[in-house]
Amino acid sequence: MVDNKLYPWQINDFTKLRQLIDKLPSAILLLGQNNIGVEVLASNFIASVLCNLKTTSDPLLCECNSCVLLRESSHPDLFYLTPDISEAKTKNITIKNVREAIEFVSLTPHLSPYKVVFIEDVTQLTQNSANGLLKVLEEPPKYVIFVLISNNIGDMLPTLISRCYKYKLLSPSYDEGLEYLEINKIDNMKFWLAYYQNCPLFEVEVTLEQLGLLTAVLIKPSVDNIFNASQVFNGKTISFEFIITFLSKWVSDLATLSSGGSLHYFSDYKDLITPLLSKIQLNKLFYFYDKLNFLSEWVNHPLNYQSQTENLLFQYQQVFQI
Ligand SMILES: [Zn+2]
Repeated sequence: MVDNKLYPWQINDFTKLRQLIDKLPSAILLLGQNNIGVEVLASNFIASVLCNLKTTSDPLLCECNSCVLLRESSHPDLFYLTPDISEAKTKNITIKNVREAIEFVSLTPHLSPYKVVFIEDVTQLTQNSANGLLKVLEEPPKYVIFVLISNNIGDMLPTLISRCYKYKLLSPSYDEGLEYLEINKIDNMKFWLAYYQNCPLFEVEVTLEQLGLLTAVLIKPSVDNIFNASQVFNGKTISFEFIITFLSKWVSDLATLSSGGSLHYFSDYKDLITPLLSKIQLNKLFYFYDKLNFLSEWVNHPLNYQSQTENLLFQYQQVFQI
């Protein structure tokens, strides 16, 4: 806990959240996109809630009792409401877990001004456990604060949302994302940023060589290139889901470019993509796009990925007039 420094795009949000500390709501719901480091912000915020020296702005440097214990992951006033890892049967937070949290908040804090219950992933709450949680949220002890994280408020029980103070976290701007990737020496930065919607903390699934192979076949869908690519993209090295998403983005860029728009994901490839335009049969391109959409719902089914990939690439080839 709290071993991560805030990311540059979180400084403002952190300052605003800290201003809440004197008038804390009993539950705070942090809303933010994937891959922007919401957990890091949450743990820094929790640290400053628990900190015994309210003046400290950086829990990583503070030497108070509370901050030291947090860094050692043994703070008695912090409770992680998570599924039991020992009971591998479920990935959900059970009613038993919720009862443990309720027991935890029934006693006053040991050394901090507050007690915190942290729910890092609200999607792990079942209807049952969320209802159990609601009971304590209706009349929480004054010294308790629940911190919840969600990237999709639509997944949550409306009654639970209504009990929480909602705070929407900023995503990094394109330039902030670009700067982060530059510092961390990620290649093809612009492409990945667009691919993951400006969220720079992603893990790149493919190597540069694989990326080269995939774009080569899309630029020139010859039989040789298709066979070469499908050898590599056999569903083992790279998920089929990735291939479908990648192809969808490529096709969406092709469609945009052919209707006079500009490339969103593959702007670096403009010179290579433009010659394809004269051969595109738009009706076939849209048909192929629909097919990708349809397949995106089936990506986790056990299929023969290599032949599926091969099939898809041959269908992509049909989009163009020879
Ligand atoms: Zn402290």
